[in-house]
Amino acid sequence: MSIADNLLEYKKELDSTQTELIAVSKYQEPAAIMEAYNAGQRVFGENIVQELADKEAQLPKDIEWHLIGHLQTNKVKYIAPFVKLIQSVDSLKLLTEINKQAAKNKRVIDCLLQIYIADEDTKFGLGFDEAIELLRSDEFTALKNVRIVGLMGIASNNASEKQTLDEFTELKVLFDGIKVSFFRKDDYFKEISMGMSGDYKLAIEAGSTMVRVGSSIFGKRKIKHYKTE
Ligand SMILES: *Cc1c(COP(=O)(O)O)cnc(C)c1O
Repeated sequence: MSIADNLLEYKKELDSTQTELIAVSKYQEPAAIMEAYNAGQRVFGENIVQELADKEAQLPKDIEWHLIGHLQTNKVKYIAPFVKLIQSVDSLKLLTEINKQAAKNKRVIDCLLQIYIADEDTKFGLGFDEAIELLRSDEFTALKNVRIVGLMGIASNNASEKQTLDEFTELKVLFDGIKVSFFRKDDYFKEISMGMSGDYKLAIEAGSTMVRVGSSIFGKRKIKHYKTE
């Protein structure tokens, strides 16, 4: 099936849900992104800063770019002028730098707090307590050029369906608690980004509002020369 066909299948499937499709185009050539673009897709996720910046420079300006991978503070400046949503905020230090670079660009940058839900050591993210501590802090409250619009999580690799659904459900419960405690009157706090090619159905069942789907739209990843850090 072509990229356009794959997208059409997802569109049909997500049509009856509240869930948005983020097409994860990491390691894909610009031509593949254009194929998706010409099929109507406008929201793309990348996880390496350099790759994202290179593609943004070459591709149509009405694409909404999300950063979904780990972000180092010294690289925020490269994406601050254009990034639509940073999904991978995992510290107050990073959020403070995003705020600074957003102010320089006279913008408010939307962010998700990445929450650690997997039963593994290898994934980035804030623990539940850390997320709440961050939101409670005076330092956070003082930041005027970032807006937290929700939470993001990555479930464990190769877990059972039950465990995956449990992890997604934990994120949904945390989201509901944070909504009530910190964002009760803020309509913008509404996103739960969870679900990838292998587990998006379970994520939607648990209340996902954004699924991040790469390989089952684009097939195998092709570009290999970008470093992850
Ligand atoms: C690569 C990636 C995805 C997409 O994964 P697929 O299995 O290719 O759908 C989603 N989220 C994050 C954070 C990723 O790094």
